[in-house]
Amino acid sequence: MIRVLVWNEFKHEQTDEEVRKIYPRGIHNAIADFLRSDDIEVRTATLYDENREISDPNCGITKEILDETDVLIWWGHMAHHHVPDAVANLVRDAVLSGMGMIALHSAHHSKPFRYLLGTSCNLCWRESGDSELLWVIEPSHPITRGIDRCFRLEHEETYGEPFVIPTPDRLLLIGNYSGGEVFRSGCLYCRGNGKIFYFQPGHETFPTFYQPAVQTVIRNAVRFLAPTYRETTACPHVRRIDDEEPYVI
Ligand code: ZN
Repeated sequence: MIRVLVWNEFKHEQTDEEVRKIYPRGIHNAIADFLRSDDIEVRTATLYDENREISDPNCGITKEILDETDVLIWWGHMAHHHVPDAVANLVRDAVLSGMGMIALHSAHHSKPFRYLLGTSCNLCWRESGDSELLWVIEPSHPITRGIDRCFRLEHEETYGEPFVIPTPDRLLLIGNYSGGEVFRSGCLYCRGNGKIFYFQPGHETFPTFYQPAVQTVIRNAVRFLAPTYRETTACPHVRRIDDEEPYVI
């Protein structure tokens, strides 16, 4: 089984009626619902509880929980600053040790994502209801398997270049908006022993996470990012190789 933890701020859904209508049980549960399957088990954690308060200072993230998580999915938007640095560091260290991480939509500005990538991750943006065509750059990649040449989202928040990220190890998708912008919408990175996938769709006022192509990409990414090797690489002082016992097969 692949163990997934879906983390969500869970604020818009409780304070904005328009968002609540689309995601009445929260974005985290909408994602969990389509991911749960024979080989994927899903837990959720949120920053805000159902009383609209931050009751857990660790926002549902501990080292023990991350040790039992193969792939962490992160959706954040307006409360990145409420995630403690110590929690962001735990996530960063878990990825460096092998955990997979999917950063969705405005998680580009989340602390864990920025700590891992080391840049501002700034971009330009606009909420004007543009439609978006997402073009597949690597049709042979496991994350884009099952997607045709492109897929269309009727409305999305517009994100545009320049997107201040390190050059992705693999660029899998490019978004093209009806307002003209283009954006690196599917970016894959290796960091330490872990893998990170940034996927741009998912603005809270549109039903993006109910779109089959979006679900396919996220499901594929979970399976691709699940670790095959998990180890915290330390910094040992070592002897010369010829001082060691010979390696015997
Ligand atoms: Zn948004």
